[in-house]
Amino acid sequence: MKKKNTQDHRHTGSGLPQKNDLILLTIGDMSVGGEGIGKYNGMAFFVKDTVIGDRIRARVTKRKKNYGYARLEELLSPSPDRIKPPCPLHRRCGGCQLQTMSYPAQLAYKQNLIRNQLIRLGGFSPETVEQVLLPIVGMEHPYRYRNKAQFPIGADRQGNPVAGFYASRTHDIIPVQDCLLGVDQNRIVLDAVLSYMRDCQIPPYDETTGNGLIRHLLIRYGFSTNELLVCLVINGTDLPEKERLIEALCAIDGMTGISLNINQKKTNVIMGDVTTTIWGKDSVTDRIYLRDCETFERTNTSVRYRISPQSFYQVNPLQTEKLYSLALDYAGLNETQTVWDLYCGIGTISLFLALRAKKVCGVEIVPQAIADARENAAANGMTNTEFFVGKAEEVLPAFYAGSAPSDMRRPDVIVVDPPRKGCDQKCLETMLLMAPERIVYVSCDPATLARDLRFLCDGGYELKKVRGVDQFGQTRHVETVVMLSHKKPTA
Ligand code: SAH
Repeated sequence: MKKKNTQDHRHTGSGLPQKNDLILLTIGDMSVGGEGIGKYNGMAFFVKDTVIGDRIRARVTKRKKNYGYARLEELLSPSPDRIKPPCPLHRRCGGCQLQTMSYPAQLAYKQNLIRNQLIRLGGFSPETVEQVLLPIVGMEHPYRYRNKAQFPIGADRQGNPVAGFYASRTHDIIPVQDCLLGVDQNRIVLDAVLSYMRDCQIPPYDETTGNGLIRHLLIRYGFSTNELLVCLVINGTDLPEKERLIEALCAIDGMTGISLNINQKKTNVIMGDVTTTIWGKDSVTDRIYLRDCETFERTNTSVRYRISPQSFYQVNPLQTEKLYSLALDYAGLNETQTVWDLYCGIGTISLFLALRAKKVCGVEIVPQAIADARENAAANGMTNTEFFVGKAEEVLPAFYAGSAPSDMRRPDVIVVDPPRKGCDQKCLETMLLMAPERIVYVSCDPATLARDLRFLCDGGYELKKVRGVDQFGQTRHVETVVMLSHKKPTA
């Protein structure tokens, strides 16, 4: 924490402070971005890396008309919820916005976030929210949970290859040996790749010139299978002396596949279009277990998934089991129902639903993900699924307007799991027309969730259950699963 100039520009008096002024703040609230909020002469200041209850000295970094931003300069008295963050780089990285908070306080923050968005943006009454909002489902171990890592590769000032993360708002790479959200294997893979680059003098990619070869390192890990997949993104078509890299990587326990992705464009987009496997398999498999929704203990039932490097797959596999088990529970299936799973990715939720449904139809915009979904259904011996490539807001209305004599035009349940921007209005309107008895909404953004729930409730649905599941410990993100039922049960 910088202490310089604490005597300078100290703001006193009743006016509003200017940029660079030092102010005293008590953090009384937190923003959706995970910043602490303190009021100074009535004006709200947002301060990163602070916790409700902290008393701090902060330097104003930006002032707008009605609010401002400030940087933590000195902690005068810590909140009881503050802990010593285990990662020495957490302030520079910015990926773990909540690392200074104890885990129970993080969960309380997320619970509150869901509640507030339902009230403020969804227009639900505090009483309704009180009735439907269940306690958030936390993690047993809120570190080392990610099954996926992505490291940019670059050079340090001396020209040595380094891997790390981009410093906030720049493209300078800050080297890291280890990220505490990732599995231990990441570090071993990183070491092997950097040693190979040093030994064989392979130049890292330079963003400003567009020269150099190695751009990114991607790692995927199957928690239940111990399978590791490594993909190097390169600015070229092949690697020199690649046998040496293959040999070093193959010595790592669980190594399952090594691939090269070719990206020769001068762009911020990480991956190019072509991926070739240079050793082993082109995907990892993982198994997701159904859990009991009271105890969250695993049952014996599970689904197997094949995951290729480009496909979307939930990053926290243990919490995903809880999330999908709740989604399945909320769908209320007994093998007689028809279900749509919109935004289905590689069919993760679809196959869980297919365990208990008569028929499940999935819709997803990425063709490769649908190919994976079909393959995953077959690998699990499921014959009651069908998958469509396209936008949910186009596939669903077309299906509804079509003449297929299908009970899929009047499904019993619709499940949605859209990206952060939520569902397209056309998609929501068609859902209302199809009038399923239940809708299950899985969301990664409580703000768009609240907006869409308002639309569905104005269209004839009732909020029954809302439950947060913490998929992303240490970060400000939260996943929510919601059950809605039709107010007038359809005949
Ligand atoms: N249900 C899946 C994926 C959820 S992520 C799982 O749990 O694994 C959201 C998915 O929606 C992504 O796979 C993304 O490619 C897809 N998507 C984004 N916009 C879409 C749209 N308009 N229509 C259909 N799918 C879309």
